[in-house]
Amino acid sequence: MKVAVKRERDPAELRVAATPDSVRHLADHGLDVVIEAGAGEAAGFTDAAYTASGAEVVTSIDPQTIDLLAHVRPLTAEFIGRLRAGTITIGFGSPTSELAAVAALRDARVTAFAMELVPRISRAQSMDALTSQALVSGYRCALEAAMRLPRFFPLYMTAAGTIPPAKVLVLGAGVAGLQAIATAKRLGARVSAYDVRVASADEVRSMGGTFVDLGLDAIDGAGGYARELAEDRARLQQERLAPCVADADVVITTAAIPGRPAPRLVSADMLRGMRGGSVVVDLAAESGGNVEGSIPGEEVQVAVADGHIVVLGMKDVPSKMPSDASRLLARNISNLVALMTVDGVVVPDFDDEVVRGTCLTHAGTVAHQPTRDVLE
Ligand code: NAD
Repeated sequence: MKVAVKRERDPAELRVAATPDSVRHLADHGLDVVIEAGAGEAAGFTDAAYTASGAEVVTSIDPQTIDLLAHVRPLTAEFIGRLRAGTITIGFGSPTSELAAVAALRDARVTAFAMELVPRISRAQSMDALTSQALVSGYRCALEAAMRLPRFFPLYMTAAGTIPPAKVLVLGAGVAGLQAIATAKRLGARVSAYDVRVASADEVRSMGGTFVDLGLDAIDGAGGYARELAEDRARLQQERLAPCVADADVVITTAAIPGRPAPRLVSADMLRGMRGGSVVVDLAAESGGNVEGSIPGEEVQVAVADGHIVVLGMKDVPSKMPSDASRLLARNISNLVALMTVDGVVVPDFDDEVVRGTCLTHAGTVAHQPTRDVLE
């Protein structure tokens, strides 16, 4: 069977859905791989490296001749319309926001798998692209903060005096938040963190952070995710977080609720209570923002009593580290393909909960029920 890998068209997307290593993995399962020329260039993977790994490099992919397409960003309705019925696609599908593309996949009778939908269960960890890309994002948030802070992260005791460590507060301690904690710790900062989930206190401590206890009951939603807080509870959370935010040199926010806008954790008033020179990094800026006034892809200055602080709204974060983000994503994709491949043929077994759970559209229907409920 022929697996094709697209060159991403969005200039903000520097990742690629296959690397020379994942091409070898696919070839080991009896699959032929074609790569669009230049697909891996921005991530540091040359056409020659793909050729050496056994792929065929082509100037453009003919959608009519392929059996499976691997991609990073959601496909456009125009491209989907050129695929043959029964083609399998695997990549990010943004089921909640790219509804026109989902409808196009359904109408073209494409069997589409959305990497966002990989079930968060132990058996699927090697395919879990949300986790692999959140790892990249969390790491990057800590570095972006460190680069903007006009002081050190670590403690320095020198002949010229002692410099205390920076105080970093991480709000939202899921996969990205835990990586932000670990990275800030490695840089020597004093790190504390808060999350609403029951398990998060132990997870924060395991990364070397101090858990901030706001004296509020922990809240878990379905599948180990958080759920939206009631308005009075959200206000209480903000009130109790305010002194922690005011005391921090760096605040990194990573809180999210699946299928909902990001919860607002830091208000403009809380920002105004911070010390001049402090830095706030909002990883959730693209999905509504944990921080009032954060703008995706922009650095906003906010006036405070003794100067100003910087609020950085993060955007396209995994794409800023395209090489390793692609390595992880490509392996997630090839692991999913391998799961569905028998004797060199990709045959999705819908009795398998990973395959069923990841499927977005199949045989002219939207398989993912929450998306179907919105679309139909
Ligand atoms: P996410 O990106 O959906 O959310 C990030 C964090 O924001 C979560 O920890 C969430 O609790 C937190 N949050 C939401 N509202 C908040 C609020 N008002 N205040 C503070 N924090 C708030 O989550 P994620 O990183 O994808 O992980 C979610 C869960 O899935 C975690 O329990 C994680 O351990 C689990 N997980 C399991 C697997 C697996 O079993 N294979 C893999 C990855 C993650």
